[in-house]
Amino acid sequence: MTALVLPDPIAIDGPAASGKSTLGEALSARFGYRFLDTGLMYRAVTLAAIRAGVAPVEDACATLLKHLELTLRGEPIAHVYLGPEDVTPLLRDDAVEKNVSKYAALPVVRTAMVRQQRAFALQGRAVLAGRDIGTVVLPEAPLKFYLEASEAARARRRSAQTGEWGREQHHDEAHRDIAVRDEVDSAREASPMRPAGDAIIINTTDMTLDEVVHFVMEKVLCFAG
Ligand code: C5P
Repeated sequence: MTALVLPDPIAIDGPAASGKSTLGEALSARFGYRFLDTGLMYRAVTLAAIRAGVAPVEDACATLLKHLELTLRGEPIAHVYLGPEDVTPLLRDDAVEKNVSKYAALPVVRTAMVRQQRAFALQGRAVLAGRDIGTVVLPEAPLKFYLEASEAARARRRSAQTGEWGREQHHDEAHRDIAVRDEVDSAREASPMRPAGDAIIINTTDMTLDEVVHFVMEKVLCFAG
């Protein structure tokens, strides 16, 4: 029997609450991929900036980044650390949620994060999820997915995710947060959110997340031959 040659790395992009993390974690559990949710890194920068009182402007963030000890630790699902502190559980907080897109729009922040994301991908079989993985971070990835879903479907999923998110989020509030972030993430100049030309686009509005996971696993196995 020949061993499966799994595609590596795999890129998953798509807007807020489109199911990227659920999918990445499922691929990790099923096939042993290491998984990095790159949104957590932009969230960690935002948390550090809020703590230090640094505004979302290029110069101030350049200085912040110089002293920032952001590291990725843990297998197979990467956690984000600031110095010795695992900040992963704090990254869904309201202040981070409402401000992350402003910090993520800054080229100086993106350059630093992309460098670390590429290093993560080089360390062994990896799935990365984000907004620009297929277009900028890993343009050579052999398998790319772009998840789409209506804003209403995504807001429904997000407000149902209270456990994972550590706080209740009212449906209308989730809808508003998602809409604002999508707008900023799509309109920014630096690496705007969009599908790569060679990405498989999946509209998940009328699918359950289980169905999405199954569809993607089929594609992975197909690729592996
Ligand atoms: O994926 P998540 O919704 O947690 O991402 C939080 C924010 O981080 C996004 O709204 C976007 O502004 C930013 N982000 C990004 N590029 C990525 C991943 C996330 O700009 N690759």
